[in-house]
Amino acid sequence: MAKTKSPARNKKAAVSAGAAKGNSQLEKYFHDALKDIYWAEKALTKALPKLKRASTTDQLQTAIDTHLEQTREQITRLEEVFQLLGKKAQGKKCEAMEGLVKEGEEAVESTEKGSMTRDVAIIVACQKVEHYEIATYGSLVQLARTMGNADVANVLETTLEEEKETDLLLTSIAENNINWEAEQEEEVEEEA
Ligand code: FE
Ligand code: FE
Ligand code: FE
Repeated sequence: MAKTKSPARNKKAAVSAGAAKGNSQLEKYFHDALKDIYWAEKALTKALPKLKRASTTDQLQTAIDTHLEQTREQITRLEEVFQLLGKKAQGKKCEAMEGLVKEGEEAVESTEKGSMTRDVAIIVACQKVEHYEIATYGSLVQLARTMGNADVANVLETTLEEEKETDLLLTSIAENNINWEAEQEEEVEEEA
């Protein structure tokens, strides 16, 4: 019986040939993931102002505003990454972010205007968004390093740090003292 070439070896050869041209399967996946987060960040520049307007606590409004500004810079950073890869900056709908933004809208709709419970719900919605972004950028930074693209990894890491800081800031805002005030709110309503 004729011996066929090992498929594993063939695959390996195909991958390294692709990598040399910047066209490997992993690089294509990476490019798609960039389009996804590019779309997601743009969606957030529309969603964050609405969440800010719906919230009451000054500290929360300021945090959302600051992060909106950072989000705009993150979009510019992604455009820089596309450029470093010699690709056109292009978005592709991120189903997850669309869902998370919808959850944020529902959080507002299902809570009373001016209540601390609404602020709690907005913080939770924002933190879900930050966690999605942390997972995405964390993975992209590691992949860029694996593919030997330190410049891309560094640009994406700047954004990763901003997402992590935002998450921590939201936790501290919730703890001082929105969560506690929201808990008090419930008791007052029950007595009335
Ligand atoms: Fe972001
Ligand atoms: Fe996505
Ligand atoms: Fe973010």
